Amino acid sequence: MDLNNNNINDYIDTTSLDENPGVFIDIDGVVLQGGKPFEWSKEAIHALWNNDVPFCFVTNGTYCSETLVNTLKGILELPFTNDHIVVAPSPCLGLTDYHDKRVLVCCQDDSYGLIAELGFTNYLTIPELVEVFPELDYIDHEKRKILLNTPTTPERERARNEFRPVEAILLLGEPINWECALQVIIDILMTNGDPRNKFKFVPSPHLPIIACNKDLTFKGAAALPRFGHGAFLECLEALFMKITKNELVYEHLMGKPCLITYQFAAEQIQRLSKNGNPINKFFMIGDNPDVDIRGANVFKEHLHMLSETASRSSRSSRRPSIISENELRSSVYNSRQVEAILVCTGVYNPQNDMLVHLRGLFNDTGFSETSSTDENNNSTKSTSISRTDSSSRLARTESNVSLNIEIDRRELRNALSRKNSFISYFDNKQNIPDLTVNNLKDAVDYIIKCCNSARFE
Ligand SMILES: [Mg+2]
Repeated sequence: MDLNNNNINDYIDTTSLDENPGVFIDIDGVVLQGGKPFEWSKEAIHALWNNDVPFCFVTNGTYCSETLVNTLKGILELPFTNDHIVVAPSPCLGLTDYHDKRVLVCCQDDSYGLIAELGFTNYLTIPELVEVFPELDYIDHEKRKILLNTPTTPERERARNEFRPVEAILLLGEPINWECALQVIIDILMTNGDPRNKFKFVPSPHLPIIACNKDLTFKGAAALPRFGHGAFLECLEALFMKITKNELVYEHLMGKPCLITYQFAAEQIQRLSKNGNPINKFFMIGDNPDVDIRGANVFKEHLHMLSETASRSSRSSRRPSIISENELRSSVYNSRQVEAILVCTGVYNPQNDMLVHLRGLFNDTGFSETSSTDENNNSTKSTSISRTDSSSRLARTESNVSLNIEIDRRELRNALSRKNSFISYFDNKQNIPDLTVNNLKDAVDYIIKCCNSARFE
């Protein structure tokens, strides 16, 4: 990317420069893809580090801190600590009311170490529950045969008699055997935490559920995004509604785009600030408009509302002041305290963005507007950068990123004439980024330019 001084000024809002920014960085689709770094990842992260820009990795993954820190240390060769990472369930550390409750946990084996790390002391996993009540896991025909032909043991009988009912459910991440987990979680909800209970009616309210990470998909090694924990939760919600005619309610929902995760990450990044200087501008670099960008915009609105409230209360001591809803909404979207930067190396892919295609369709120069990318659209040779300024960001999305797609125009016209031919990234105005760039390096270059411009003003 060639962000020289001539064009960077087009994108830096000189009225909003701050000397002490903090950066949230998503991992999958931004730093890594399929567990491997992009060729520019190490250089980009080192640039932030060497410029004393505090940052932390904010991922919706459910990794143990030690594992994730060691992985990132090995790949990026920097001395990270736990303060450099926020995983989807990190805010559970503050849910102390649940830490001693009997909690049923759903996740994969490699996340079991995380449960105690989050503060839970009295939990059981779904395989442990099925070990006591094997009849609950009745979908696998082979298991069914074994169950029917194997007498129960005295140990299992004792475990059933001494079973302590579940008081809450913690959904950390997608399990391996979805059919078993979906069945058992609904069993526990309908029996109010005790599978020995005979079902009488749907408990209302049902047991409290804490859920982390509603990512429907994430970018892995495959060309198309993979199902994430959000896909599992969609299944659970749909089944619960179908079976009970009741809505599944989450007592606590965390991970991006939830505000609580950004608040948690902001506190964490403050601890990394040099000399403890207050962070006065946040950047979010992410690849998923529905998750990273929406969360950053939610956080931006929240910060602006706080500042509006503080401003109103200080003015109210002098004279009464009523701000209209329109004025408030306008001011919220003009806020520059948080800037959301979308990269095109992960879930968001301009090749699937209808607005990009529409622009190409009516552009005489065709689709190869600015530069070229490799076959997987991951190794960008050059780039353009586009800013969505606050005045127009509600009405349109600027996705004028590099694109080199050879698509038959007739095929494109056919696709445009059909409903639902494209993935909708920006149906929700909160999914619209402030800035769209090709990759992490471009995003970091932009942030450092902003930062240096402010420092030398
Ligand atoms: Mg991602």
